Parts: sequence; C-alpha cells; structure tokens
Amino acid sequence: QEDVFKKIVSHCKEYGFVFPSSEIYDGLGAVYDYGQLGVELKNNIKKYWWDSMTLLHENVVGIDSAIFMHPTIWKASGHVDAFNDPLIDNKDSKKRYRADVLIEEYLARIDEKIDKEVEKAARRFGESFDETMFRQTNPRVLENQKRRDEVHARFAKALNDGNLEELRQIIVDCEIACPISGTRNWTEVRQFNLMFATEMGSTADGAMKVYLRPETAQGIFVNFLNVQKTGRMKIPFGIAQIGKAFRNEIVARQFIFRMREFEQMEMQFFVAPGTELQWFEYWKQERLKWHKALGFGDENYQYHDHDKLAHYANAATDIEFRMPFGFKEVEGIHSRTDFDLSQHEKYSGKKMQYFDPELNTSYVPYVVETSIGVDRMFLSVISSAYCEEQLEGGETRVVLKIPAALAPVKLAVLPLVKKDGLPEKATEIMNALKFSFACQYDEKDSIGRRYRRQDAIGTPYCVTIDHQTLADNTVTVRDRDTMEQKRVTIDEIEKEISLKTDI
Ligand code: ATP
Repeated sequence: QEDVFKKIVSHCKEYGFVFPSSEIYDGLGAVYDYGQLGVELKNNIKKYWWDSMTLLHENVVGIDSAIFMHPTIWKASGHVDAFNDPLIDNKDSKKRYRADVLIEEYLARIDEKIDKEVEKAARRFGESFDETMFRQTNPRVLENQKRRDEVHARFAKALNDGNLEELRQIIVDCEIACPISGTRNWTEVRQFNLMFATEMGSTADGAMKVYLRPETAQGIFVNFLNVQKTGRMKIPFGIAQIGKAFRNEIVARQFIFRMREFEQMEMQFFVAPGTELQWFEYWKQERLKWHKALGFGDENYQYHDHDKLAHYANAATDIEFRMPFGFKEVEGIHSRTDFDLSQHEKYSGKKMQYFDPELNTSYVPYVVETSIGVDRMFLSVISSAYCEEQLEGGETRVVLKIPAALAPVKLAVLPLVKKDGLPEKATEIMNALKFSFACQYDEKDSIGRRYRRQDAIGTPYCVTIDHQTLADNTVTVRDRDTMEQKRVTIDEIEKEISLKTDI
C-alpha cells in the first residue's frame, strides 16, 4: 500500500497534477501547487460540488467571502482560545509531534499486531477457522486487546479533561519512541494554536493583528443576515462557499491529505430550533450519496460517528474514504446548534435573528454544516483512479480511471499519421469541438504511445483520424477503460462525448 501511495505521488508530479511548492528552493513543508492538469481536475471537483449544492437544492445559494476577517470573529468562534493541538518535542531528535497522533499511531500498531495474529491463524486453520472464537480465546490477542483498551481509555479521558500532563505520561508509559531516532526523551506537552497571524495596515496607532482564516464557515455565519434579507430566503435554507483555509498543522504528512494551505467546500444550513437532528440525518445521507455517485465503490466509504462532541455540537459524523493509507476523514457533517450565531450576536452586539413568518416569532437559527476538503477529495479521486494493468503481450499500462465528468481532458484528437492531410482534418475536428469540452490535440509519437499518454492522464476518450476519415467522414472513438474502439461519424462525436462527460 505504501508503495502504491508513493507511485501515486510521483505520478501526480510527472504528469502535471501536483508539484511541491517552491520546488527549486527545496520546497515548503505541507504546501503544494496544482499543475496544468491538477487545476482542471480540481475545478471539476469544485463544479461537481457547487452545482449539486446550488443547482440541485433551490434553497441553497453561494457566497465568496474574504480570507481576511475582523479579528474578533475568531475570538467569538472560539478559535483564538481553543483551536489548538497538543504538541510534544523529542529532545534528542529535535522533532516535533502531535501528542494525540503519536498515541493514535501506537494504538493502530496494536490493532495491526492483533490482525496479523488473526491472519496467521486463519492461514493455518483454513476453512475450519472461527475468527470470533479465536479473538475471544487466544492469549496473545487477549493480552494485546486488554493493553489497547487500557491505553485507549486513558487517552480518551485525558483528551476529554484536556489533561496535557497525562498525555505525556501515556507516551512515556507506553515507551513510545521517536520514529526517527528511536529515542524516548520527551518535553512537556503544550497547546499550539493552529491559526496563522499577520498584520494589517500600519497606522500611527500600530497595525492590527489579523488571521488567515482557518475555515470558510465563519464568512458564512457573519453574512447570514445579508444573504437572508437580500435573497429573501426562508428557513430552512443554506449558504455554500468554496475557498482557501490555512492551518499551521504540526504534523503535515501524507502529501495533500494534510496541508497548511488548503481549500474547503462548506455549506451551512440554517434551520428552526428543534428540527436540526432531522436535517443532520438528511445531509448525512445526501452527502454520502454525492460521494457514492462517483462510482468508486460503496465499500470504500464509512461513517465515523463522533462519541465525543464539541461543546457546541449535538451530533457529528465524518465521511471516511479508503485512502491508500487506510480509512480517513474526507468530510465532516456537524449539527452546530445556535452556537456560532449566538456568539456573533454576543461579540458584535448585533441581532442575528430570523423572523419566521410561519411560526410568527423570531429566533437564532440552528445550523447543520457539511464541510469537505477539496484537496482530500482530489486525493481520493486520484488514488481510486490509479491503476496498473497487465495487458496481453506482457505490457503494462498505467491508467487513471477518473470519472469522465471529472477528467481534466475529455477528448484527445489524434491523427493516425503526420501526413496525407490527416493533421489538417484532425485540427478541423478539434476546432469544432473545443468549445464544447476540454480537448487535447496530439500528433507526436506512435498512436500506441499517444494512447498510453492519454490513459496516464485519465482522458476518457480518444478519437483517431485515419485515411478512411477522408473518404467517409468517420473516426474511431477509443474508450479509456475497455480500450475498445468503434467508428462514428464526425457529426456524432460531440453528442456522444458530451453525454458521457457532462458534470
Ligand atoms: P483532521 O481531524 O483531519 O485534522 P478536522 O476534523 O480538523 O480534520 P474540519 O475542521 O472538520 O477537519 O475541516 C473540514 C474538512 O476540511 C476536513 O474533513 C478535511 O477534508 C478538510 N481539511 C481540514 N484540515 C485540512 C488540512 N490541513 N489539509 C487539507 N484538508 C483539510
């Protein structure tokens, strides 16, 4: 799995999807740039989300709020005081870690040990193996399970109590070693705020400290009444936004999974108090449907319901996707009560109430939010799409089976040879089609190599212009996944491809 992940990362670089930021200066930690194909894929993901929110739900509208916001917003939202991760340094290696992540990784290693034990026994006993019985009786499994449960209980309590000393003690007691040097010499655990700060303006009184927003949601909350009034929106209604967010992540690994500058697609749905859990269920189902419609396989998704809720939430779940490194959160769905709007009411002194004509009363609405990372979505698309296929004759091909609607290039236009008027005919076809969808013209190298290149960037269709085209105005259309080819007339191409690639 590790190997596949490495291959995906280098494929992204080699074909112009994702580059490390500032690469000629040896990069910048956990910051990435999207290349010529990456930006197209990312735009298509955003469009797929935006259209499903704003076109398919007539009571959801969009906004685009600024990254800079009044600093008191982050005080009101709780980010200044509580948007922290527990940080620990290893004194010998001088490496920095998130204390909670170190412990989670330790727990995952115990799980792995247990699974290996089970797998070994399953191989040994074959058909007659009873896994449940084995897990309940095998002494090594039981011992590991007991250890895991003990550490997990301590960990959950420490997190709940915000007990930093206990987090450190767990790391010491479990003899968790620094993964690089193997040493166990740790500092205290301290809280580290994830917001980036900068200064705005420079007046005689001094500059104002402002933050780069760590989420897009607050831009929606503070515009709630602007949109409601000018759009004459009636509850229940939603506001959607796509935009950059910034977090000074301590452990920034796994490529674009955890970045310091990333993009979010968030939607806050404003509802009448008392109806929020119903709407939470609705959006939970609705969002999973959106993911599954991409066809990556229903078995690759799971909900992770939160047992431990933030003080302002009364329900929360994550949609997790099977990444090459295990099931991971891609999207969060949270019932946030009236916490944010009430806080803004308190800090700004402005009313954040809605007059409900049906109930004939005013109230601060409750909010259900759906929040998904564009970059994590990008990673799930690329990693599910990446395939190495063994072809007849011993050749392998690398193909990105990106859903046609999201593919950066929809159609490659390829003259079979670079002579006999075929390039001219191909250019004519390309010029007619380029207004309808993203096309790429390619005449360099053998047709086989050109097909491979298109496979590697995930182009769902290739049309090839050959000598027969000049005689009867037909071309071959090759399907990326089946590699089958069929002949269609030039007039049919546009309808045929549009039908299959429209978002
Ligand atoms: P995690 O637990 O993985 O740090 P989170 O629970 O803090 O994520 P939220 O604050 O709920 O995440 O943000 C909503 C979504 O934004 C996440 O589901 C994820 O897709 C995306 N996201 C959050 N942090 C990052 C990041 N550092 N890099 C890329 N995407 C991110």
